[in-house]
Amino acid sequence: AFMKPALETFSLSKSFGGIAATDDVSLKVQRGARHALIGPNGAGKTTLINLLTGVLTPSSGRILLNGEDITQLSSERRVKRGLARTFQINQLFPAMTPLEALMLVISEREKIGWKWFRPASANSAILTEALEIASNLRLGDVLNETTSSLPYGKQRQLEIAMAIACRPAVLLLDEPAAGVPEAERDDLLSTIAVLPKDVTVLLVEHDMDIVFRFADRISVLVNGRIFAEGTPTEMSADQRVKAVYLGENHGVGHNHG
Ligand code: ATP
Repeated sequence: AFMKPALETFSLSKSFGGIAATDDVSLKVQRGARHALIGPNGAGKTTLINLLTGVLTPSSGRILLNGEDITQLSSERRVKRGLARTFQINQLFPAMTPLEALMLVISEREKIGWKWFRPASANSAILTEALEIASNLRLGDVLNETTSSLPYGKQRQLEIAMAIACRPAVLLLDEPAAGVPEAERDDLLSTIAVLPKDVTVLLVEHDMDIVFRFADRISVLVNGRIFAEGTPTEMSADQRVKAVYLGENHGVGHNHG
């Protein structure tokens, strides 16, 4: 059956002075996909994510969310339409616990503000949902810790949990493993592996092990353009893709069996 892509761009471009950071990008992210965006440093991944979230305005081109044009919408309106990116908890909620932060997000979503500071019995639905999300995202062991004191991996998991609590249609995961020590990466990968299937995920990540274990589709950006696209198997076998990664610290396609 025909289904509109969850997220789609048409000839999206963004120039800074003379440099085309995003150059004629037409990307389709299918509903329910685990789609990864990879590319060497400076390829334009961050710029593309910023165009999708509305942080940057494109020089030309269009962005469609569930078939509707969102190119002119503010970041806030895109979030309301179901396009979420992860929160930066260290900037926003350092003194809260994961349980409090999740209850706050759910309360905001349900437009009941801070009423949950009243007796907990009146808010058992919110508490139940917060506990369920925390459990699914492997935060059950740190529910009542101060978020700023959590290990980096757990902080990333909380950021993803808070985005999931917004019930997005599309979740943008922008370098979730950045700053996360090697020893905590398996836990992080296990967390993103069990994200709800109905949430479409677009992942930007430098860790190729995570990319190849998580993604069912990969787009390779080079010099702002889509250079190659396909399944992880196709991309790891693509000599042109391998070539653009030569000289980088990581290889493409190794170590993902
Ligand atoms: P990395 O993997 O290193 O984060 P990236 O793939 O995210 O890189 P971008 O940060 O999007 O790449 O940068 C793409 C190109 O656009 C680079 O040449 C960069 O120097 C340029 N660029 C990005 N943002 C700006 C800006 N605000 N002003 C001028 N040039 C910019």
